[in-house]
Amino acid sequence: MKSFFRPNETFELIVVGGGHAGCEAALAAARLGISTALFSLNLDRIGWQPCNPAVGGPAKSQLVHEVDALGGIMGCLADATALQKRVLNTSRGPAVWALRAQTDKRQYSSQMLQILQHTPNLALREAMVTGLEIDTKNKAEERHIIGVKTYFGSIYKARAVILTTGTFLGGQIWVGNQSMPAGRAGEAPAEGLTENLRELGFITDRLKTGTPARVDRRSVDLHKLEEQPSDASNRFFSFDPSFWISGNQVSCHITRTTSRTHELISKNLHLTPIYGGFINSKGPRYCPSIEDKIVRFADKESHQIFLEPEGRDTPELYIQGFSTGLPERLQLELLQTLPGLETCVMLKPAYAVDYDYLPATQLKATLETKQIRGLFCAGQINGTTGYEEAAAQGIVAGINASRYIYGQESIAFHRENSYIGTLIDDLVTRDLKEPYRVLTSRSEYRLTLRGDNADRRLTPLGYEIGLIDERRWQIYQYKLKTIEFEKKRLDQIRIKAADVASEIISNETGLSIKDSITLRELLCRPKIHTTDLIRYGLISPILPLDIAEAVEIDVKYHGYLARQQQQINQVKKQEYRPIPIETNYYDIHTLSNEARENLARIRPINLGQATRIPGVSQADITALLVWLAIKEQQAQL
Ligand code: FAD
Repeated sequence: MKSFFRPNETFELIVVGGGHAGCEAALAAARLGISTALFSLNLDRIGWQPCNPAVGGPAKSQLVHEVDALGGIMGCLADATALQKRVLNTSRGPAVWALRAQTDKRQYSSQMLQILQHTPNLALREAMVTGLEIDTKNKAEERHIIGVKTYFGSIYKARAVILTTGTFLGGQIWVGNQSMPAGRAGEAPAEGLTENLRELGFITDRLKTGTPARVDRRSVDLHKLEEQPSDASNRFFSFDPSFWISGNQVSCHITRTTSRTHELISKNLHLTPIYGGFINSKGPRYCPSIEDKIVRFADKESHQIFLEPEGRDTPELYIQGFSTGLPERLQLELLQTLPGLETCVMLKPAYAVDYDYLPATQLKATLETKQIRGLFCAGQINGTTGYEEAAAQGIVAGINASRYIYGQESIAFHRENSYIGTLIDDLVTRDLKEPYRVLTSRSEYRLTLRGDNADRRLTPLGYEIGLIDERRWQIYQYKLKTIEFEKKRLDQIRIKAADVASEIISNETGLSIKDSITLRELLCRPKIHTTDLIRYGLISPILPLDIAEAVEIDVKYHGYLARQQQQINQVKKQEYRPIPIETNYYDIHTLSNEARENLARIRPINLGQATRIPGVSQADITALLVWLAIKEQQAQL
């Protein structure tokens, strides 16, 4: 903390980090007219994908659609740089359909850099931020941020700062029991900032993540392996058709672990950092290492392994499902136990990284810290894992830091309107002990929070905020009108038993039509889809795919969607009942000790948040409701 303050440069907002959170945050703020600087340790690694260059998948794709619906960049770049696209979970309902794109990691990064460089109001600086400048003139509870300082002693002034430091704070990478300080392979860690955050009163902890080896495609016998071609190159993350580009698609391939793989791992488990006890920070449960899979599912004879290209102009293959903590000398031997990889060349070994993060219970739902005004955190620093989770938090922090600077009311996203809201609500209310990844099962409103309707849920908000421009707004309006027009047409057009189409439908599906029915009634029947109605010549063949699907989901799931909306309306009544921020939970003697401690630490702003805090039981919520009612009565006297 300094009283003497002579800045090198002055901005309104500084974003520390050029990963997926930092890029979204900086772009959002700059597009909202805020003079913004993005600091990165390495400007040649902007929007870098250090693990699998894949975007989307279950729940993550919903996040990407939501970021796009608000005016973010991730969906556009994933579409523009996709190598292979697939829709996952199509055998199940639309709530869990998920687009996943394997992207070209170098193109993704270079296009992101180009976009940042050409965005007005946005400056890029390469430097290591080592400390935060805080205004100490005011009382402790009114502390606010005024800038940052860098490793070589420069000071940059700003009214708000967003920290998006990823895996870099105190980063240490591990290959087997060998380790070195690094934020990720080939990049230095960030020094000093963790200590400074602790001095300022923040709690930090450590987490870990890992990435598998990369192999030279030219040394793999792909002909031996099952091919997995792109099957969804006509589907897109972005709602903006100007990014609907499909370049040359590249296939992935599938291999499997063998008994030799399992044997080699079992024999050498003690050499891995986790089983050998060299590190004990927690890694993501949903991306287990191959040794974890073999230990946890000991009865399984083989595991599927995917070989995924990292780009069009690189021979690097990502070995998905094969993260390992084994020493480098054993990794090649292990890879060569896989069919097709018997003589493979390893380009990069698998490694793990452990790093400092800030448990996000220290944040408000706006991603501003509770302790220091104008200081926001987003991405992996908040305990999450994943590019999509980072991007989602980045855009929220960018929006709210801008609104803070403009003196506007902040925006909190809610569980019932987005996965973004679900993610942030989980982060700020739960004590996470391992990296947090978004999952469809984390949402109680899955049927409503689909990827296809992310624009209908969030684009009006993006427009109101100022991130959706007039062109995008017109595209959106046109889509809405077309959906409504088509639904009306489905109500108006009747198909008669004597029509040729009725006979074809009966032959193909066994559905018989008595007298006549509307197209809406027909579409509600099982086995009938909008693609069939197009085939039967009953609706226009030029109806865009996204509109045809939106119409079908609206019509087929009308009853379920209406019920979920009713449930949301009921929950909202209690959910948003405010709890005064100054509440002294230790005065509420009807609360359990554990609830008292956790409520006092997390300080929920409403009843909904309180219900999700660990250790707060239904009995505690009832006690809180009674206490709130008494307080309200007292206030009225
Ligand atoms: P990052 O993308 O890490 O970006 C951080 C940025 O901050 C960088 O630009 C860095 O230069 C900058 N920075 C940091 N400190 C400073 C400082 N003090 N001053 C200036 N600049 C600073 N995700 C998954 O979903 N699944 C996985 O299996 C997976 N495995 C991973 C394996 C490894 C080895 C790594 C490194 C990451 C893995 N990830 C995985 C995580 C994924 O990369 C991150 O979740 C995502 O990139 C986080 O985005 P971010 O913007 O928060 O941070």
